[in-house]
Amino acid sequence: MKGVEKAIDKEFPQSTKRVCAKDLYSNFKMKWGGPAFHDLFWRAANATSAHAFNKAIDEINRLSRPAADYLLSVNQQWSKHEFDPAITFDHNTSNFVESFNAVINELREKPVLTFMEGIRNHFMEKFAERMAVADSLQMHEPTPYAKEILDYNIHGSNQCMVIQAGGGEFEVLEGTKPHPLDILKGTCLCGGWQVTGIPCKHAYRAFT
Ligand SMILES: [Zn+2]
Repeated sequence: MKGVEKAIDKEFPQSTKRVCAKDLYSNFKMKWGGPAFHDLFWRAANATSAHAFNKAIDEINRLSRPAADYLLSVNQQWSKHEFDPAITFDHNTSNFVESFNAVINELREKPVLTFMEGIRNHFMEKFAERMAVADSLQMHEPTPYAKEILDYNIHGSNQCMVIQAGGGEFEVLEGTKPHPLDILKGTCLCGGWQVTGIPCKHAYRAFT
């Protein structure tokens, strides 16, 4: 891994690095186990805003200062709020790498060219499958994955209220908490829109 890290620094100097939150949690729970730490850890890991992250870390800190210090000392990204919004890729576990590993497992023993050709074939098939899905969609119809998130956000938007509007800017109330929102910039205080690239429930409320 050390060699890979060096090569990435050299070839992709602007890239940010993430550590798998699931692996981080496995280490974390050896010292700080139990459902309270579990819930707070995943609240911190899945937080799309600094505010939500800090709230979870504060609660961990109340239970154990060393636990909070340990998490804050991790120097690679693992909480969604840290992710670069230009990437709009919000995965904080390496599950998708594991499915890639599952694919290459059967090829591992093969000579290198057969190995590469096997990977290429696999992706040709994957791309073809996705192209077929894309072809079946209407012009502005979201993909099934985006639709799932959108449906969830549309459902959640029912509990929100728009209290102010001017230009592309809105303030959306969820309960008593205001969420400043900028439709033209694609930003919301909750951070969900920025991190995933898919409008959050507050944005959806403002749209409708
Ligand atoms: Zn939002």
